[in-house]
Amino acid sequence: MIRTWASRYEITPLTTIGAIADLEPRQGAIIKVQWSNGKTGYADLHPWPELGDFDLDVQLDAVSRGKLTCPAEQTIWMAKRDAILRSEKKSAFSGLSKVKNHFLITDFTKVGEAVLREIKESGFTTVKIKVGRSTEDEVKFINKVVRQSPLQIRLDFNSKSTYDKFAKFISLLSAGEKKRIEYVEDPFPWDEQGWTEAAKLAPLAVDAEATNIDWKKIKLPPFKVMVIKPARQDLDQAVERVNKFALKMVITSALDHPVGIAHASYVAGELKKIYPNVLLDCGCLTVRSYKPNEFSTKMMIQGPYLNNVPGTGVGFDDLFAKLEWQPLHV
Ligand code: MG
Repeated sequence: MIRTWASRYEITPLTTIGAIADLEPRQGAIIKVQWSNGKTGYADLHPWPELGDFDLDVQLDAVSRGKLTCPAEQTIWMAKRDAILRSEKKSAFSGLSKVKNHFLITDFTKVGEAVLREIKESGFTTVKIKVGRSTEDEVKFINKVVRQSPLQIRLDFNSKSTYDKFAKFISLLSAGEKKRIEYVEDPFPWDEQGWTEAAKLAPLAVDAEATNIDWKKIKLPPFKVMVIKPARQDLDQAVERVNKFALKMVITSALDHPVGIAHASYVAGELKKIYPNVLLDCGCLTVRSYKPNEFSTKMMIQGPYLNNVPGTGVGFDDLFAKLEWQPLHV
């Protein structure tokens, strides 16, 4: 038996998040879970109704009835990892392998020369740009990044393009610019033939579209990289697929609360130890996408690295102690 409590929060985006959300505050909850042996852990529950998740109220109701679906299932899994560390008074970050993160650009119209310089000087070597709204402006921005910095580029269309629009986009890039594109994530909705054609134009990565793939049937995936969000999918299954098809992997946050970021970073650091050459730069460090809060200011960040969150487990001990908790169990 487990007992669960929720503490609701809002986080406010600093810029529009890709093509999927606007500037309204986003709703989520920190979940506290206690197992019958007394071990207690914390994790984030941050649904994305924009991506088809049930909204927070429905998720919390499901947790209270013990009927877990993703992402709540992953929340409990992460809380358990946290609980084990807390019971041993250990920090998730002590001895953890260092993982470099990309810099996420959710709204490139806000990124000028000075910001690009700052990104480079603070140690980032890769930027991920959310695209799929205006080809011409986006291509211009890529021109600018390539001209003004040595940064590698990841593009994410969040499945918002089509094969034709995607082909047009790539055709507008010079050979030198194309070389800087490490990969393009979810260019358009999964269809094996379309993606196979698209892969001839640029290296591809799969993120949310992974759920639309028939993994039993597929022989030679047209993508080289799998983007894994431990907050939204079963980690073991994802890593098994990476190994089976000799892919590379990138762990990212779910653009969630700092507690979610800490958990994603813990997962990434553990994987780095086991798969140093398979794990690429990750995308866990998304704190800058939201207005700072009490939690984000506890994170010890150095350029592209999250070095530590003081405390036991994923950290934040004093803040968890201060939160108001609404019981979900009956
Ligand atoms: Mg993505």
